[in-house]
Amino acid sequence: MSNIKTTCPYCGVGCGINAVITGDRKVEIKGDDAHPANFGRLCSKGTHVGETVGMDGRLLHPKLRQNNGQNNFDKQDDWQDIGWDAALCLMGEKFGQAIEKYGPDSVAFYVSGQILIEDYYLANKLMKGFIGSSNIDTNSRLCMASAVVAHNRAFGEDVVPVSYDDLEAAELIILVGSNTAWCHPVIWQRIEAARAKNGAKLVVIDPRRTETADCADLHIPICADGDAALFGALLYQMQQRGIINNEYLDNNVNTPDGFWDNLDGDISACDIDPDDFAKLTDMVAQYPKMVTLFSMGINQSKIGVDKGNAIINLHLAMGRIGQAGMGPFSMTGQPNAMGGREVGGLASTLAVHMGFSPEECKDAQDFWQSPTIATAPGLKAVDMFRAVHDGRIKALWVMGTNPAMSMPDSSFVREALAKCEFLVVSDCIEHTDTAQYAHVKLPALAWGEKAGMVTNSERVMSRQRALFPPPGQAKADWWAMAQLGIALGHEGAFSYDNAAQIFREYAAQTAFRNDGKRKLNLGQWAGISDIEYENWHPTKWGGASPFADGKYTHKDGKARLINIDIAASVAANPDYPLSLNTGRYRDQWHSMTRTGLSPTLSRHRAEPLVEIHGDDAKKYRLSDGDLARISTESGAAIFKVQVNDAQRKGDIFVPMHWTEQMGKGGLANMLPAQLFDPLSHQPAYKNSPAKIEKINRTWQAFLISREKPDMGTFIYAISSRIKGGWLTEISSDAPINIDQIMPQENRIEAVDHHNGSRRVAIIDEAGRLQSAIFISSCGFLPPRVWIAEQLENDDLADSMEILAARPRVKGPDKGAIICVCYNIGEKEITNGVVNHQWNNLDLIGQNLRAGTNCGSCRPAITKIISNYG
Ligand code: SF4
Repeated sequence: MSNIKTTCPYCGVGCGINAVITGDRKVEIKGDDAHPANFGRLCSKGTHVGETVGMDGRLLHPKLRQNNGQNNFDKQDDWQDIGWDAALCLMGEKFGQAIEKYGPDSVAFYVSGQILIEDYYLANKLMKGFIGSSNIDTNSRLCMASAVVAHNRAFGEDVVPVSYDDLEAAELIILVGSNTAWCHPVIWQRIEAARAKNGAKLVVIDPRRTETADCADLHIPICADGDAALFGALLYQMQQRGIINNEYLDNNVNTPDGFWDNLDGDISACDIDPDDFAKLTDMVAQYPKMVTLFSMGINQSKIGVDKGNAIINLHLAMGRIGQAGMGPFSMTGQPNAMGGREVGGLASTLAVHMGFSPEECKDAQDFWQSPTIATAPGLKAVDMFRAVHDGRIKALWVMGTNPAMSMPDSSFVREALAKCEFLVVSDCIEHTDTAQYAHVKLPALAWGEKAGMVTNSERVMSRQRALFPPPGQAKADWWAMAQLGIALGHEGAFSYDNAAQIFREYAAQTAFRNDGKRKLNLGQWAGISDIEYENWHPTKWGGASPFADGKYTHKDGKARLINIDIAASVAANPDYPLSLNTGRYRDQWHSMTRTGLSPTLSRHRAEPLVEIHGDDAKKYRLSDGDLARISTESGAAIFKVQVNDAQRKGDIFVPMHWTEQMGKGGLANMLPAQLFDPLSHQPAYKNSPAKIEKINRTWQAFLISREKPDMGTFIYAISSRIKGGWLTEISSDAPINIDQIMPQENRIEAVDHHNGSRRVAIIDEAGRLQSAIFISSCGFLPPRVWIAEQLENDDLADSMEILAARPRVKGPDKGAIICVCYNIGEKEITNGVVNHQWNNLDLIGQNLRAGTNCGSCRPAITKIISNYG
């Protein structure tokens, strides 16, 4: 069994994995002790990635829609397998015709932080150097474009000035707009370990009291978009206390006129407790070694760039940057979002950290020896889909992403995709919300099949390596992109033998006429051999901090303080009185095409919940488990209610993962408007005016089944994976016809008219459970854990246990699953704390094993201990 070193496919931490192939499409996953991002750690998502490498739902052949050209999409349309030659020929024809007839800006690529550096490089080269447009943008626009602009304004280049090691050297760590324990769990584990070792203080600034905030020394529940005002006021306070680093400012930073006059100590826009602000001010004054880590809560805002610069201003003005244990730290969301930024796969960058000055355009064109060159930024994500909608873009290639569910105002984006004259979708999954609008679907390699380079949030370049041979006709994205280049007549510039050749060319471009103009210079790897590329060890470019010498990329070598326009949050709208926030769940990733395959990961949160404060729940007559419709001016979506005082009053939170493929309900991105930061064009997902209302239903149910059921006409139906099948939560106000969702043979049934419940199970001749449904009109349904496990039971001893949904000798109710690795529930942990005084993580781990594998549940266990201990 060979041990292959590769990199996790999920978040921007970029953890190294040791993968041991144990059988046909079977792999054992361990953290790579030698990788500098994780030193052997993995979170729940990385730990269980081996459950997602099967062939379920894979797209294995290029496919052509049979009503091609008519644009009256129907999910029942036939698809013809056409082979790569025919697909590429058609793409060359359609893209070529659009370019010839309407010009280069009539075509576009919308790519992804999931694709590799080599894929990005060829997509960018083809669009900007050979088609002559900048209409290439990426889903990274949705997660960190504001940080890119903030870096460019402050430093002159989009460079992250810190490393993960700085978290371990810091005395004070401030997390802003980041549920780190859920969204970047291994960074969280490094923070936890550092705090245990050196006592670093932790402040969390977040409207929600998340599991991250629960563990902090100080949590500041700021209102949405209050962060720029907060960091401006903090800087003002530091100036008042006389602890600005004037020497650093004089030597290394340009300060714009009126900068200091613009600051004041006003925190009224933050809606925070002045005592909390005083504590924060004291901590910032006391601890010079300070890292401020920020992510989507900062970036996904209509003032995201200013928020980023307000944070960077504080660090620059205090000289807290470029040394161990200090600096502003933007964490990226995706495994190769940083690689995409470096290559230049955003519409706002030309290539390799270059903009669109005449000199830079000439350098790029000379390097590529290309017939043309883009000379101005292209359409960024929201604008790109507007241009698809109004017909300016005729041909679009979507690669490795799912804009029909992930873009704001996604019903508008779906309309745009349906109107697009020619849509190509490359994906490893056959059915996605976006692919249903495609004319051509191209089978991509999945994680575990593709091979190339990714860059993580701290500039470490690592290899993703193939574990399995390509299935069917699946091909690398770089290969497909090169073939389109050839089909468009550029054979000489797009003939590549392998990914290593493309990486060398990319590295050479970063060095071409660089002469110290940009920190990004990978020239030392421009000549590596194929073998050296194959044997690549994770390598950080730029050292611990590329700004350790105090020299920045702006032409005068100095950084910039930036005047911040502290805008008020979204104006109150009496029709939509709530502020809607969206975000991630701990164990799911993006549109769940991968994590949704894992029964283990699905245990943590099987449904999309709207979290609402108890006072608001009372006001809107909502209780736990109710069904609620959330509406905004853009659209509406349905969620289950979770009353949770971790929300601010007036705020609600929903997860962003659910798609039409998982059922009916939870389509979060129907809700945010097409509102974005004017500089970065990053959408403002975190603060949408919304309203909520209860949906009346006459019954609810859950169904255990081997096959995923047809969702029929239910108001709400969400399926999640369990071992051996599916768990589907259903609600409706119409009579149920169970024949539509269950096999008809060998039924046993129990009906309780008094309590309004009906339970039906199908057990086959061999004594195996095929399907079971539990229906209630009064709202009570039994726990799901035991009954879901019976799909794996080959010999059901007592079928009546099935209808009772529990064994005859009743075991303890686990409650909501907290530790997915060992299937340990909230009630088991609470029982340990209350009845056995297991009052710390070690005792819980020793007695229940919870929290001893991947560690992702440790913040949740800590919260239970602090609530009940
Ligand atoms: Fe993967 Fe988790 Fe590491 Fe992110 S923190 S790269 S999801 S293992």
